[in-house]
Amino acid sequence: MVASPRTIVVIEDEAPIAHSVAARLRSEGHRVEIAVDGLSGVELVESLRPDLVVLDLMLPGLDGLEVCRRIQRERWVPVLMLTARDSEADLVIGLGAGADDYLTKPFSARELLARVSALLRRAERVDADRARDTGGDAVHVGPVELDPRSRRVRRDGDVVHLTPTEFDLLTYLARQPGRVATREELLQQVWGYDFPAGGRTVDSHVRSLRRKLGQEVVRTVHGVGYAVEEAV
Ligand code: CA
Repeated sequence: MVASPRTIVVIEDEAPIAHSVAARLRSEGHRVEIAVDGLSGVELVESLRPDLVVLDLMLPGLDGLEVCRRIQRERWVPVLMLTARDSEADLVIGLGAGADDYLTKPFSARELLARVSALLRRAERVDADRARDTGGDAVHVGPVELDPRSRRVRRDGDVVHLTPTEFDLLTYLARQPGRVATREELLQQVWGYDFPAGGRTVDSHVRSLRRKLGQEVVRTVHGVGYAVEEAV
């Protein structure tokens, strides 16, 4: 179920996949445009300013990672990356190029719609938080300071760029220091999933956070989930 129709760009060189994804999203009322290579995808996103991008990792010309970086340069747009293998999650998310979630081919129409709806709901929430300008007080994790109002992050005073998903994930953990959150809880609370899904997207986002802010910023609790330490 979709609250309001949105503009979505699909960047995918395999025509049957591009068209079935577009048809499914259009049947939900969304306006969908397709690009078949990376460069025209970047141009399409720049001219349409869509609410969400479905982006294939393997594209002729610019690959999905480079497209992702370029389309995020000026403003955040939620990106659902399509991959050929589940093991590519770390590539698309762990490198911090700006993908918010990924889906491994082949996927069902139901999976696609569930991910798209969750990402659109998150984007709405991020926009609403920004508009209200009431994200709450700054949160600290060791040398890292998270300012929910500006969504700005500093480590030892230096600004570090986090994607909105990375920011929301770390803020969620940091607001409950010492408490362990399971992957399922994080998928529900941070990604807005109301359906079961694997936790690999969580793991990859944690790896990206560690790469940007230091290994110690998030603690792995093996077999359970993730936590940040209580301040000493
Ligand atoms: Ca492809």
